[in-house]
Amino acid sequence: MGDVTLTDVTKVYAGEESVVAVEDIDLEVQDGEFVVMVGPSGCGKSTTLRMIAGLEEVTGGTIEIGGEIVNDTQPQKRNIAMVFQNYALYPHMTVRENMAFGLRLSSELSEDEITETVEETATLLEIEPLLDQYPKQLSGGQQQRVALGRAIVRDPQVFLMDEPLSNLDAKLRTQMRTELQRLQSELGVTTIYVTHDQTEAMTMGDRIVVLNDGELQQVAPPEECYDRPNNRFVAGFIGSPSMNFFEITLADTESGSTVSGEGFEVSLGEIDAPPGEYTLGVRPEDFTIVESDGITATVDVVEPMGSDNFIYLQTETGTAFTARVDSAFRPNEGDVVRVGFAADDVHLFDADGDRIEHRRERTPPAT
Ligand code: ADP
Repeated sequence: MGDVTLTDVTKVYAGEESVVAVEDIDLEVQDGEFVVMVGPSGCGKSTTLRMIAGLEEVTGGTIEIGGEIVNDTQPQKRNIAMVFQNYALYPHMTVRENMAFGLRLSSELSEDEITETVEETATLLEIEPLLDQYPKQLSGGQQQRVALGRAIVRDPQVFLMDEPLSNLDAKLRTQMRTELQRLQSELGVTTIYVTHDQTEAMTMGDRIVVLNDGELQQVAPPEECYDRPNNRFVAGFIGSPSMNFFEITLADTESGSTVSGEGFEVSLGEIDAPPGEYTLGVRPEDFTIVESDGITATVDVVEPMGSDNFIYLQTETGTAFTARVDSAFRPNEGDVVRVGFAADDVHLFDADGDRIEHRRERTPPAT
């Protein structure tokens, strides 16, 4: 079984100034699950992955793979396979030899069995015609497939992938994203995938693990991180363009809840949260253009995206924010518009940045 459990895992890099790279991480990855670990550069993603792989010692806590504590187990005995950003193929070996090499070292398979495994995997990855070529004869995408193939032939309990697609151009990256998902579900091998790219996190994994400053922020399916972010960090990190934030005061009035911020006051039907100071979060697509009420703002830039327009706006007091509206609405730079939002669509965060639960049920689209 390829489940992976991290309990209170901490990593401190000792040195003149010690660095706490990862702090008290608890994580349970189920057998066969595809988990994407995401966060900004330096948040501890690679360190966590390398500790699971056994390439980095754990300072505190335990790591279990398949129910066994592996803290003191050599990397080659952990039954994992890693795929990195740089493919690290052996240049003097053909594709076939590159794929067979690790298998020869790590298994007892006969040469015939190795050939069979390599050819089956090459078929799966559609690189069969390349088997007798050398890495320098291949495109970046093809080399990445070979690197994947080399991991797959070893039939590990767990795949650990560190930014495997970031050397590919945008189009190929999108294509490989889909393909990796297909492969992972076909093979059913537990996969932990590290990226700094929130789009990869949103589109690929069964669950996302969001890290910041070495600490876990949220572990949840992508939709949940998007719809119910645990805190302001996750809210701002997941989603593109990012969620907009306004410092506001929430007050109860006769007509319902009123949200007031710098230069605006908006009445909302009802927000089920006590009056007070909050950060209000509004996703760009949750703004609508309104006739009255709403935030008055000046249009800085209009970015047509085809089906919608991204409108970059500024309030009277200079707060910048983004609205995503229908492509039919196309104001000019300098126009003054009003944008509104619905009580059910806004997010509230307290002074510590933690999410305040309030009534927020999305209306299902009309059928
Ligand atoms: P990420 O993969 O999210 O970019 P890393 O895991 O590489 O982050 O790094 C987390 C933190 O640990 C960073 O502050 C980084 O500078 C530090 N770090 C990483 N590797 C080492 C090392 N070998 N020695 C000292 N500090 C390190």
